[in-house]
Amino acid sequence: MGTSDDRFQDIRDGVRALCAEFPDEYFRKIDEARGYPDAFVDALTKAGWLAALIPQEYGGSGLGLAEASVIMEEINRCGGNSGACHGQMYNMGTLLRHGSEAQKRKFLPPIASGELRLQSMGVTEPTTGTDTTKLKTTAQRKGDRYVINGQKVWISRVLHSDLMILLARTTPFADVKRKSDGMSIFIVDLHQAIGKGLTVRPIANMVNHETNELFFDALEIPAENLIGEEGKGFKYILDGLNAERTLIAAECIGDGYWFVDRAAKYANERIVFDRPIGKNQGVQFPLAEAYIELEAANLMRFRACELFDAHLPCGAEANMAKYLAAKASWEAANACLQTYGGFGFASEYDVERKFRETRLYQVAPISTNLILSYVAEHVLGLPRSF
Ligand SMILES: Cc1cc2nc3c(=O)[nH]c(=O)nc-3n(C[C@H](O)[C@H](O)[C@H](O)COP(=O)(O)OP(=O)(O)OC[C@H]3O[C@@H](n4cnc5c(N)ncnc54)[C@H](O)[C@@H]3O)c2cc1C
Repeated sequence: MGTSDDRFQDIRDGVRALCAEFPDEYFRKIDEARGYPDAFVDALTKAGWLAALIPQEYGGSGLGLAEASVIMEEINRCGGNSGACHGQMYNMGTLLRHGSEAQKRKFLPPIASGELRLQSMGVTEPTTGTDTTKLKTTAQRKGDRYVINGQKVWISRVLHSDLMILLARTTPFADVKRKSDGMSIFIVDLHQAIGKGLTVRPIANMVNHETNELFFDALEIPAENLIGEEGKGFKYILDGLNAERTLIAAECIGDGYWFVDRAAKYANERIVFDRPIGKNQGVQFPLAEAYIELEAANLMRFRACELFDAHLPCGAEANMAKYLAAKASWEAANACLQTYGGFGFASEYDVERKFRETRLYQVAPISTNLILSYVAEHVLGLPRSF
């Protein structure tokens, strides 16, 4: 079910074959235990799927965002949760597009082989939230090191990653012309940092998504870990965010098809009043509507991929794809839960798990309101509201 683009059939078949080894029960048990799907992420890495975006000269397969997005979509469409590992796909972009040759040679081959994981990106802060340019974490140059002080919140997969991309202010807010100036990005070696200036405190939350508060107290990192030019970090991060939004749109589309597939199957099988519940239009229509909206979101997702892969501006399309897909998957989730009736609440059908998982994407990595304000301001030319 769903528009399959023939160009990607080989990738779809490959990822589906791998996912078949990690059936519903696997993800259900991991969710119940609030565990991490190590075996799944290892298998995905060994098969090379998480190195899709790394150029061949650094040991990856040199594919584009469209292919990477199909990999993420298929994981969710098969019942899994790419939230455990999608960080590597989009964090990669920052290093690929803005890292020095020396940084790429140092980090990309071990990431491609699975020796290192780059699963984390530290942007959000507790006191500033979505108002990213006001972030308070600072990085001060001292000789051949930077000294980091501050706090982050909701930083995912830190305990299952070796490296983290960190956004911090290198020039005080008061001293910059534009508020987006004066921030820089760094690669942090988490093994060297934790316990030596970085404290990690996990946050228990609604989904099985390992995420944390981070406290930086004079953490020293080598100056060579600065990515690109000092002060340009916000611009670099934005590039990466477009990839992130598009990949997450694809994951939502995978979730959405999963919900519609499961619900249609259940509606054909469940007999109430001596007929399949799917014979009632009250059951059919929400599923048909969810499917239509998923198909439309899917088109926008491929449009965003096409622009990103051609190095063309894609901010509007990436945001719109994420908006449409997160909304469509949430509506599909609701329709699926309603179709299952009481059984939708039972863990063994996986609907309640996927329902919680897909809900996240209207809040993170960017909330729906902020997408609407982006489109209002940057596409429609309306005045900035904040
Ligand atoms: C499970 C999870 C994992 C995450 N992983 C990461 C991660 O790995 N790295 C990272 O850096 N961050 C991560 N985040 C943070 C996430 O990106 C933020 O939660 C999200 O961007 C929203 O920011 P906030 O929570 O600070 O909300 P706030 O900025 O406090 O906003 C709260 C609400 O107010 C609305 N709002 C705020 N300002 C406006 C406005 N001007 N107009 C209209 N509405 C407005 C928002 O849309 C939102 O609905 C994660 C979050 C979660 C829940």
